[in-house]
Amino acid sequence: MADVHTGVPTRFAPPRLSKSKFLSGLQCHKRLYLEIHQPTLATPPDASTQAILDMGTEIGILAQRRFRDGVLVKAGFRQREAAIAETAALLQDPMVSAIFEGAFEYDGVFVRVDILERVHNSETGTSSWRLIEVKSSTRVKDVHLDDLSIQSHVVQGVGLRLAATCLMHIDTGYLYQGGEVELQTLFSIEDVSEAVTDRRGRVPERLIAMKAMLLNSEPPEIEPDQHCHTPYECPFWAHCTKEKPQRWIYFLPGKKEIVGQLVRQGIMTIDEIPDDTRLSDVQRKVKDNVEWTSSELGRILRSVSYPIHHLDAETVMLALPRFPSTRPYQSLPVQWSNHIELESGEVMHQEFLHGEASEPRRRWAEALIESLGEKGSIVVYSAYEEALLRQLAETFPEFKSAFKAIVKRLWDLLPVIKSHYYHPDFNGSYSIKSVLPAVVPSLGYGDLTIQEGGQAAAEYYRMVFLESDWVERDSIRQALLRYCARDTLAMVELRRVLEKKTREVRP
Ligand code: SF4
Repeated sequence: MADVHTGVPTRFAPPRLSKSKFLSGLQCHKRLYLEIHQPTLATPPDASTQAILDMGTEIGILAQRRFRDGVLVKAGFRQREAAIAETAALLQDPMVSAIFEGAFEYDGVFVRVDILERVHNSETGTSSWRLIEVKSSTRVKDVHLDDLSIQSHVVQGVGLRLAATCLMHIDTGYLYQGGEVELQTLFSIEDVSEAVTDRRGRVPERLIAMKAMLLNSEPPEIEPDQHCHTPYECPFWAHCTKEKPQRWIYFLPGKKEIVGQLVRQGIMTIDEIPDDTRLSDVQRKVKDNVEWTSSELGRILRSVSYPIHHLDAETVMLALPRFPSTRPYQSLPVQWSNHIELESGEVMHQEFLHGEASEPRRRWAEALIESLGEKGSIVVYSAYEEALLRQLAETFPEFKSAFKAIVKRLWDLLPVIKSHYYHPDFNGSYSIKSVLPAVVPSLGYGDLTIQEGGQAAAEYYRMVFLESDWVERDSIRQALLRYCARDTLAMVELRRVLEKKTREVRP
């Protein structure tokens, strides 16, 4: 059926929503509309996002083990009616103390609830339920309360009595000592009933607005801005911004309050920003958009001593700790790369990758200490390696004096570039991924399978804990080695090219 005036198809019944669709609608009506009617316009999740989702699934399954006599609703996510019927039967069975993945539909919204725990009232002989949402995060966030508000709207709508609404999340204070994971300590359960009740009251009006919007033949006209990144990165960002100019005002880095003020004045590109606007140092450099080198840069770059090591460490953070003396989400070093530049100009490369599901830290540290030796500067890019070494020294006192000596030799290239050099192609970012191709155009990350740290951590997790095919494991291993080696080769080339530039500009 088409609109008689426009010829555009019209829709009569709004599609069924889910809790994730409801959350999309809270972030942006246009996002919800596109997810329902034009999902192919979304950018697919990358490997890192997928790994985070996989880790969330693993945590969800582990959380169920905390409720020993719970029963899982077996019907899959596409078997909506079967899942609802299975849930209804379990609710009626007084022997079932908890239900996992219970399915409910009300008001045009279908939800699966992570955990429903039966609360039995022995005086009245009746049951009510604790609704528990499991998250792999470490604290309660606003978006979790919204998530619980739509779930409680649906389950209460079908007549379930809720004793409490709770969020179950990871407690980073838990120190794993080996053996069985103590689920009672690993997970915190917070009763957030009061905070959810406030939001629950607004659900009906929000649903009405979303459903009405979804009946339109076109998506709502909503301009992309800060809301596209909170609480989640919207997958339609590339679609919504594809016609924006290269120097669009929202590409100005740093705090976005100033961007809001400028937009209200009608300023839409970075080049239109008035000269007297108060900008941060980085924002000013992006606005000026010219290459700049401080007179100090050459002297500072020449202050390193040979042999010059160039070090990068890669880590993995496990929500579920697997090795004794580790906490949830603790950074565990698993890989390093070291490019060593000798006074002769020769460059050597050494590397380490812990490729199995065992405690990585001791072997990582021993190999690193040997590679770095006792002489020369150790160039790094950020303070991350120093923090990692200090943390490891606390856990492994036997490495303390070696790490102390290494830390004294660290030489951080990042603050040097930040304070003494700028290139327009940085676009306000001092990440090595932005800096390298701008300063050394022949060397970037575009040819690599793994192109950033989050992806490296996700791929490492896949290689060690998930992948069973040795060919695939080896291909991930090679990609990880190439990625880490590129980070340290990048530092060698950045130092050399920048130092050469300072000689060119010297009088
Ligand atoms: S990119 Fe922004 S404006 Fe576009 S759909 Fe997503 S949240 Fe809405």
